[in-house]
Amino acid sequence: MSEESTKQSAPERSESTSPAPSATQGTNPRPSGPRSSGPRPGRSREGGRKFYRRKKVCKFCTDKIDDINYKDVRLLSGFVAESGKIVPRRLSGVCTPHQRRVTEAIKQARNIALLPFASGH
Ligand SMILES: [Zn+2]
Repeated sequence: MSEESTKQSAPERSESTSPAPSATQGTNPRPSGPRSSGPRPGRSREGGRKFYRRKKVCKFCTDKIDDINYKDVRLLSGFVAESGKIVPRRLSGVCTPHQRRVTEAIKQARNIALLPFASGH
């Protein structure tokens, strides 16, 4: 017996309760895997990940900027991610001493509400 009792006029509820994946903030690429302490023969194969081999030079060194003003939001905003986090040195390409100054400047700028604090943490 196949008695269809289900009406086809069931309105589709557009309940969008789909669990949105938490925003990918600060993806930390952890090198999980066996250490390859040997010479890799894969010379013809370049890694699948995005990898720029271009040597990054510190912006401040090239521009010879020694004094990073915390009021220079335009400059600092280039080192703050959208989430408000400070872009790590590995990504920004700034040398250590300059990154330090940038970090200090950003923190100062945050205190006077020129830049947003990192959201999340
Ligand atoms: Zn530098």
